[in-house]
Amino acid sequence: MGSYPPPPGNDAVSGTHRATSPNTDDDTGSGDEPLATPGKPRRRVGVVVAISLLSAALIGLGVGLTFTFLDLQRAVALIEEQQQELEEQRELIDQKETFSQAATEMMAAAAVFDGLPFSTLVDRRYHETLIERGWTHRWNATVLRHDIDDVRAETAVLAELAAEAATEGASNASGTYYEEITDQLGRGFVTTALDAAPCGQEAWGCVSGDDPFTVYYDHAGTVDEPYMTDWIRAGVAYHEYAHVLQFMNPKQTDAALESFNDNVEHMADCYALTFLEGWTLDHRVWVGSYTYWDISVGYGYVCDSGQRQVIRDWVASLTYDHQPIAQ
Ligand SMILES: [Zn+2]
Repeated sequence: MGSYPPPPGNDAVSGTHRATSPNTDDDTGSGDEPLATPGKPRRRVGVVVAISLLSAALIGLGVGLTFTFLDLQRAVALIEEQQQELEEQRELIDQKETFSQAATEMMAAAAVFDGLPFSTLVDRRYHETLIERGWTHRWNATVLRHDIDDVRAETAVLAELAAEAATEGASNASGTYYEEITDQLGRGFVTTALDAAPCGQEAWGCVSGDDPFTVYYDHAGTVDEPYMTDWIRAGVAYHEYAHVLQFMNPKQTDAALESFNDNVEHMADCYALTFLEGWTLDHRVWVGSYTYWDISVGYGYVCDSGQRQVIRDWVASLTYDHQPIAQ
């Protein structure tokens, strides 16, 4: 019986363990269905890992995009802010240049008055204040704009004053000798008014402190009367012009008045006696072969040589001396 093949059962025992391995490999577990596909779990982990990595990458990308977007926003805001700063700086530079130009024009308008004997006609202190203000506000374009307006307004006032004086000086609207000589003395800045109303009955002419650039003349008493001559009118005009100078130069006048016992009329007479060569206070005016008028002009006091020198020094001190103002 040795030829009998070995019973399959024996080999089968050992062989079964090998041959039937897929379904009889019980030693690895319970033998249920999930264990029949051992490769799947490994693939699922890979997917999960892959998905996780992808998710992480997407989140990273999202975060990155968010950061990039925020950075972009910040950059845009910064650029806008810098752009605004640049515009403000540009405007400030423009305003500073405009102010400088306006101040230069104002000083040029003031220079027209250089040498005139009206110290208070040009308010130099005000000009200094305007320019100081511009310097103080040089970092503030808005306030500087107001300063520019003020400077330009002052320039307009000066220009108008000069233009009016040029017109007044070039014309003789009343056609009188009074106006002719007053225009010469006042260089067009002094107006002639043929109206004695503010002067009272006694005076032939007068000047008011309220309007120091207007000389009033008694038209009825000093223009049409037969005893009046241009020579006498000239003396009257010189006397009145001295009052204009007194009003327009109060500081220098106060000092000079000490030599006249504070008498402004004696001082005005002395001005005429000093600068109108040959002038006297008393006149005999012949109106016929046997008829004459004795005319007394002024306040009866003839100043001496020392007082006349005071008058010369006084006039020499009245000049408006134009000087540049540092900016
Ligand atoms: Zn007088």
